[in-house]
Amino acid sequence: MEYVIIGNGVAGISAAESIRQLDADGNITMIGDESGLPYCRPMISMVLEGTATPNQLPIRKAKFYDTLNIAPIFGERVTDIDVGSRTVQVGTAQSVAYDRLLIATGADPRPINAQNQELKNISYMRTSLHVANMLQSLAGTRDALVLGGGLVGFKAAYGLLRRGLKVTMLIGSGYPLSLQVDQTAGQMILKELVAQGLKVKVGVEVTAFEGQDKVEAAQISDGSKIACDMVVIGKGVLPALSFVPRDHIEVDLGIMVNAHMQTSNPHVYAAGDVAEYIDVARNSRWVNAIWPEAVSQGRIAGINMAGRPVAYAGSLSRNVIRIFDLDVLTGGLVTPPHENGYEVMSAMHAGRNTYRKMVFCDQRLVGFTMVNDIEQGGVLMALMHHQIPLTIPKEALLDTRFNFKQVMTHGAWAASPKAA
Ligand SMILES: Cc1cc2nc3c(=O)[nH]c(=O)nc-3n(C[C@H](O)[C@H](O)[C@H](O)COP(=O)(O)OP(=O)(O)OC[C@H]3O[C@@H](n4cnc5c(N)ncnc54)[C@H](O)[C@@H]3O)c2cc1C
Repeated sequence: MEYVIIGNGVAGISAAESIRQLDADGNITMIGDESGLPYCRPMISMVLEGTATPNQLPIRKAKFYDTLNIAPIFGERVTDIDVGSRTVQVGTAQSVAYDRLLIATGADPRPINAQNQELKNISYMRTSLHVANMLQSLAGTRDALVLGGGLVGFKAAYGLLRRGLKVTMLIGSGYPLSLQVDQTAGQMILKELVAQGLKVKVGVEVTAFEGQDKVEAAQISDGSKIACDMVVIGKGVLPALSFVPRDHIEVDLGIMVNAHMQTSNPHVYAAGDVAEYIDVARNSRWVNAIWPEAVSQGRIAGINMAGRPVAYAGSLSRNVIRIFDLDVLTGGLVTPPHENGYEVMSAMHAGRNTYRKMVFCDQRLVGFTMVNDIEQGGVLMALMHHQIPLTIPKEALLDTRFNFKQVMTHGAWAASPKAA
C-alpha cells in the first residue's frame, strides 16, 4: 500500500503514526514545504513574547521518520493532484503515486489588499520562520502595527507588548477575539490590553504602506497615517487548498469530509485546518482550525486509511487564553445567532473580575465563555462533546461550585445519546 501525506504539521504526523500502528509494511511518504522538525505551531507566539525558546517547539525528534520508516520530501510544495492516475505533483519535476492520499496542508494567512506589502518588516505570523524573522528585526523596532484582532492578531499584539513595543491594533469588530469570545469577555480583554498600553482603532483598514526599504508608516482608510516600523498581518486564515482539483474533490470553505475523514474521492482523505466536517455545537459543517481537532482528525484519518473504519464524532471549538491577569476559556458556540431559539444565561462578578456565560439549545449546553475561575471548563466541554441533556437547572452551570457529580447524580449522563 502506498500512503502519501501532504503536510508535515500535527494532523499529518498524527495520521502517519496511526497508519504505522496498523500497517507495518505499507510505504508512507510525507511531503511538506516547511523544512525542519514538525513543531507546535501555537507556541510560536510564546517564542515571540519570550516565554518559550525555539528549541522547545519541535513535537517529534529527528529520528521520528526513520523509526516509523517514513520517506520524507521536505522543502517542496505539492502543486497538483491527478485523481485519475492517482499521483501528486511535487514542485515542477517530481510526481509521487498513491493508493491512499491525505491532505493535511493546514491553513494560509488571509491576504490583505494594500499596496507596498513587499516592504521589509511586514509579515504574517503562521510559521516559526515568520517569528524568527520578526525577532531578528526587534532590535531596531519601536512601533508595531497589528492588523486584525483574531487569535493570531491578538497573540502578535500581546507578544510585542510584552517585548516592550508600542503596539497599535486595527480591528474590524469593537473588540479582539470576536470569533473566540463574546462581546462582554471581549471588552474585558480589551480593557486589560489597553491598560498595558495597547492602542486600538476600530472599523478601519490599511490601504497602503510607506517606506524606502523597510516599512515606516501605514495609510489608513479614514485618511489618517500611522507611523510603524513593524507590521503583523493577522486577519484570519483560509484552508490551504489552492492545489486541490475542485471538480474531483468537493470543497466548501474547507475540503468536505465524511465521518471517516474521507473526501468525495474515496482514495483521498483530509484532516486538520484544511478539512471541514460537522461541528457538534452548531450541528452544521464548520472548519474548526484548532490544534486538538487537527490531532484527532489526523488520527482518525490515519486509522481509516489503514483500513479500519472508525468514525469521528465531530469537532468543537475551544480556546484557553491568558492575557496578563485574565484567564479566558471558551468552547462551542459563544455568540449564537439571534433567530434560532438559543437560550443564554450569564453572570458577572465585578469584584472578583469573573464572568460566565452559557449558551443552551433545548436541554443541551452548546457554548460557554468564562473569564477567570475557569477550572470547570473540562466538565463543560464533556457536557457539550457528549451532548448530555441537562436534568439539573441550567443556572447551576453559572455557579463556580458546579461539578460533574451534580450531573451524574441527576442521571443526565445515562440519558446522553453518546453514553449509550
Ligand atoms: C500564531 C498561532 C497561534 C495559534 N494558537 C492556537 C491556540 O492557542 N490553540 C489552538 O488550538 N490552535 C492554535 N493555533 C492553530 C493551530 O496551530 C492549528 O490548528 C494547527 O497547527 C493545525 O495543524 P495542521 O496539521 O492541520 O496544519 P499546519 O500546522 O498548518 O501544518 C500543515 C503543513 O502543511 C504545509 N503545506 C501547506 N500547503 C502545502 C503544499 N501545497 N505542499 C506541501 N506542504 C504544504 C504547511 O506549510 C504546514 O507545514 C494557532 C496558530 C497560529 C499560527
